[in-house]
Amino acid sequence: MLLVMKFGGTSVGSTERISQAAELVLKSVNEGHQVVVVTSAMSGVTNKLIAAAENAVKGNYHKTVSDEIFEPHRQAAHALIAENAQQRREALAGITARQERFEAICKGLSMIHEMSARTLDAISGMGEMLCAPLLAGAISSKGRESVAIEATQIITTNDHFGQAEPLMEATRANAQAKLKPLLEKGVVPVVTGFIGATVDGVTTTLGRGGSDYSASIIGAALDADEIWIWTDVDGVMSANPSEVPEAQTMREISYTEAAELAYYGAKVLHYKTILPAYKQSIPVRILNTFNPNNDGTRVTVQGRPSPRGVKAVTSIRNVSLISISGKGMQGIPGIAAKAFDAVAEVKANLLMIMQASSENNICFVVNLSEADRVLKALQKTLSVDLLQGHIEDITRDDSIAIVAVVGDKMKGTPGISAKVFGALGAGEINVIAISQGSSEVNISLIVEEKDAANAVLAIHKAFELERPIDK
Ligand code: ADP
Ligand code: ASP
Ligand code: MG
Repeated sequence: MLLVMKFGGTSVGSTERISQAAELVLKSVNEGHQVVVVTSAMSGVTNKLIAAAENAVKGNYHKTVSDEIFEPHRQAAHALIAENAQQRREALAGITARQERFEAICKGLSMIHEMSARTLDAISGMGEMLCAPLLAGAISSKGRESVAIEATQIITTNDHFGQAEPLMEATRANAQAKLKPLLEKGVVPVVTGFIGATVDGVTTTLGRGGSDYSASIIGAALDADEIWIWTDVDGVMSANPSEVPEAQTMREISYTEAAELAYYGAKVLHYKTILPAYKQSIPVRILNTFNPNNDGTRVTVQGRPSPRGVKAVTSIRNVSLISISGKGMQGIPGIAAKAFDAVAEVKANLLMIMQASSENNICFVVNLSEADRVLKALQKTLSVDLLQGHIEDITRDDSIAIVAVVGDKMKGTPGISAKVFGALGAGEINVIAISQGSSEVNISLIVEEKDAANAVLAIHKAFELERPIDK
């Protein structure tokens, strides 16, 4: 089989963890599989790179910050890669070259006091570039030739810095031309997650947590047999385990369930991960490097429906509810179209859309970081309607959260909504708005942010999701 294996930050978070990730790769290689590895940065490194750049913009840049980021990589190179290996010298030289570039950029930022999205991508993607040679070196030192490959050579993207989208045709051609020959020679390519490059070769990133997405893009581009996401929990769980300690791992979920859960806040998968795999029916597995013998979660077409209807509950915080309201909106065609065009223009992502049947109000939810530019765009696009009084107000409310209830079998199972609202009512949790897609595999609710944790707990309990699903 051709496997794409992605290792997340904690799975490559230290010398020991990188060594174990290398062992897991070798196990599959020794079983006769071809493996393409996709790696994240060591845990915490991306945050540190971004914080350093943001501080540099404010004029605070210190060499100690740079040493704190780069030195652990140097130590790991010494510990993981055989002493006389050319690969060790190259890894060390690469770390030094990147550190120099990082320091030069930070010094520049501290002088000009501003940073473009393009510069931020150049910095935030460095963590993966530092980590890939360490993992490749570790695999080689354990006996199987392995090379680090920068995804700038593989994943071609548009120039939406910070949230770039792959151009699949070019990416497929790159992956086939550069990765396939290595696999055929028995070499293990270790590709940097999270990053890509524009057609002009400028580094982009796919969004925070985007290494999962890199793995599915590469899996699709190579027509892989399976995509394995190695992380720090046993799989996709019925809720975020840090919010609901009783949450259970789901053995099998459908592509739709996985996509809905990822979209509505299950951090274990980047929200765009599922689509490339789904389009080509490539099975995805989520596995735990801390418990590698566990079967994890399989994402499949059928997804083993649960008789309870609901399989999982998630929440998203740091979102903003934007409302456009006015009694004069009724019967004026095109307001919704203009509003959504404005949102699309500023490339914001709509998480939820609602319209009252009276047509006096349209609201939608966007990420908090996008709310400012959405509001400005709406005020500009709808200025004439505001002036004419069709629209009275465009407002934002940042104190909300989305809670989503997901399960394929919710479709056609009566009484699910009643149970959800019964649980929330009993917990005295006020629901601000509701949306149910016509696919009926998801009910999304808006609640006050302060109520979100209790809402998730109450729904989890009401559907007895603490009971193992498959038993
Ligand atoms: P990685 O670094 O491997 O990409 P992440 O931290 O991005 O790992 O994602 C894994 C984490 O996602 C888990 O440790 C868990 O805290 C969190 N998480 C949130 N919701 C869920 C869920 N429904 N199922 C599993 N994990 C979840
Ligand atoms: N290192 C990147 C991040 O922290 C990508 C990833 O881990 O998936 O966002
Ligand atoms: Mg992740």
